[in-house]
Amino acid sequence: MRLSQYFLPLLKETPKEAQIASHRLMLRAGMIQQSSAGIYSWLPLGKKVLDKIGQIVREEQNRAGAIEIMMPTIQPSELWQESGRYDDYGAEMLRIRDRHERDMLYGPTNEEQVTDIFRTHVRSYKALPLNLYHIQWKFRDEVRPRFGIMRGREFLMKDAYSFDLNADAARTSYNRMFVSYLKTFARMGLTAIPMEADTGPIGGDMSHEFIILAETGESGVYFHKDWLNTDLVTSVDYNEDLQPVVDRFTSLYARADEMHDPDNCPVASDDLMSLRGIEVGHIFYFGEKYSAPMGATVAGPDGANTPVHMGSYGIGVSRLVGGIIEASHDDRGIIWPRAVAPFDVAVVNLKPDDEACSSCAEDLYGKLAAAGADPLMDDRDERPGAKLASIDLIGIPWQIVVGPRGMASGVVEVKNRRTGEAVELSPESALSMVMADAA
Ligand code: ATP
Ligand code: MG
Repeated sequence: MRLSQYFLPLLKETPKEAQIASHRLMLRAGMIQQSSAGIYSWLPLGKKVLDKIGQIVREEQNRAGAIEIMMPTIQPSELWQESGRYDDYGAEMLRIRDRHERDMLYGPTNEEQVTDIFRTHVRSYKALPLNLYHIQWKFRDEVRPRFGIMRGREFLMKDAYSFDLNADAARTSYNRMFVSYLKTFARMGLTAIPMEADTGPIGGDMSHEFIILAETGESGVYFHKDWLNTDLVTSVDYNEDLQPVVDRFTSLYARADEMHDPDNCPVASDDLMSLRGIEVGHIFYFGEKYSAPMGATVAGPDGANTPVHMGSYGIGVSRLVGGIIEASHDDRGIIWPRAVAPFDVAVVNLKPDDEACSSCAEDLYGKLAAAGADPLMDDRDERPGAKLASIDLIGIPWQIVVGPRGMASGVVEVKNRRTGEAVELSPESALSMVMADAA
């Protein structure tokens, strides 16, 4: 992409309404624009990152055996009356009436909708286990939408729903999602700590929240200091028994603040840390809570019909965009981990009207694209300082700076956005260096 032809509306001023770094940086980097409270348009740079995060989530869900579907945003109230949640859900649910006076709602979550799909088609335990997921917009009329897309009213969520014959089998499905979450967040460069959590309005028996540490996080976390040195990336075979893997993580103490009991905490006070974090995922096992009232039953091996055991598994796809920025930025701007970066490398042409600079930048840009990278070419007619500042701001992992001084001796400057390290290299070596770091 050539910046001269792109739509990247950068802001010079720091927006006053933004209280936290990710919100400020997303506005300044031209990623989002507020439409109304807690509702945003995603501009090109933001949309690219959102899609990259969604794709990582999708790949890891598929690997763990979940199957992608797409359910609607608008649901009929009848389904929610069946589960009993139509009245319970309260003011967070956006209720709509259509032209035929039918009560509809903009889905805050999809347990009822997916249970309806299941009960329509599945009759036998032989179709189990089954895990269906989608990546879809949700609406929750949050009392206090804030921090940009971190606590929005409209937000993008991956939600998966597992169906099993009994509690033991449901535990296996739960463990698969647990492990796939660790892998998903690790691919985005995040350390997400799974914490035992309250099951809240979804209800149920077992639940973990996945929290990334950040000072501006809304959740309190208590955990053993060993978490900070734990390698959360595990190589897994999803067909193996994952219970030992899950046990290894849950044995390292970590609790959401509402679950922390200071009088009965097993961790010595010297080892206990209390920090703030951002909830990026939440998994639940809730058994027959929806299947029983909604009649989602299957015939077991003995022929008897029983309600299926269900779990649900959410990831805040749009919240992750902000979460990653909170975890990875400096005073000059965003520092994208390569796997979610909107572009892999920026070729910054400091003097587009200089023949040598332009032909070198064009050549590099073409070769990077041909080698499979996604390059951004800064060919704008701007001051060199302004160019470098805006490329720092939008956080592209590598910068290749082409200027007249370097051209005189046949070199370009390659800079790593994260480390700040810069080296002068021939254009060919610059290309190899950037390509060697391919995500
Ligand atoms: P929270 O405790 O932050 O309000 P929740 O427990 O209500 O979240 P879940 O129902 O568990 O949320 O939803 C799954 C995931 O969706 C959460 O882990 C979070 O990452 C994301 N999410 C929930 N609410 C919002 C929101 N208002 N804006 C952006 N993302 C959200
Ligand atoms: Mg939650």
